[in-house]
Amino acid sequence: MKGVNMGLLEGRTSIITGAAQGIGFAIAEVFAGEGSRVVIGDLDASAADRASKMIGGSTIGVRCDVADAGDIDALITTAIASFGSVDVLVNNAGITRDATMRKMTEAQFDDVISVHLKGTWLGTRAASAVMRDQDSGGSIINMSSISGKVGLLGQTNYSAAKAGIVGLTKAAAKEVGFAGVRVNAIQPGLIRTPMTEGMRDDILAARLAEIPLGRVGDPSEVAQVALFLASDMSSYMTGAVLEVTGGRHM
Ligand code: NAP
Repeated sequence: MKGVNMGLLEGRTSIITGAAQGIGFAIAEVFAGEGSRVVIGDLDASAADRASKMIGGSTIGVRCDVADAGDIDALITTAIASFGSVDVLVNNAGITRDATMRKMTEAQFDDVISVHLKGTWLGTRAASAVMRDQDSGGSIINMSSISGKVGLLGQTNYSAAKAGIVGLTKAAAKEVGFAGVRVNAIQPGLIRTPMTEGMRDDILAARLAEIPLGRVGDPSEVAQVALFLASDMSSYMTGAVLEVTGGRHM
């Protein structure tokens, strides 16, 4: 399913980071289907460009490292120059560097904190500054993870970053709510994407046993929730954290 195609984002501009593939790509597809102009920000310029061409319409791809303040500023500037506004930002880009603490290097810890936590902070800061100056407010959606709620073995870096994103989301929501800028978070569970494709069979079976709905989620099922948070359907929601997990770790 690519959205409900009701024009819920008609006339708006959405930036989605890490949207060359996976959950971000699914969000870009659904938002475009709802009438949004879409800016795909991703590390690899050609992958971002390819993704934008697959979606078509008013969609562009921009190379951007979310951990770099200059790249984030350029991403926002490009969106405004191309489409005239920034109405929605989804801070979705992410990496994993899983290892137990005995084996995790300082670089693996720093990289994950930098992309997820600092990247989300840079994006939230830059987009909210623009949205505050627009009369129409805006919606910022931060991709956390159920790993940030419960803590997962081998993910001390990732769980810390994803829990940090929840605190960041709530603090930012309090700062910019007066200007009609809403900031919410999503905590996906196990979703079928390139990030999770390589999972060992025994680990996958153990994870499935924890999921009441008994299956892995599809990226489109996260995208539908992102659409809800991006659109006026959630106009009285800010600082909320929505779990999309099939009931895992409820
Ligand atoms: P994915 O398939 O690996 O896609 C992530 C995208 O982000 C890739 O295109 C990646 O580019 C890009 N990226 C990585 N570092 C970046 C950076 N510094 N700047 C800009 N783009 C960058 O991952 P996904 O599964 O769709 O995950 C999307 C988000 O959902 C992440 O925040 C992830 O933590 C979260 N999440 C996923 C799951 C799941 O089960 N899949 C569960 C909970 C939360 P490269 O490929 O070039 O690295």
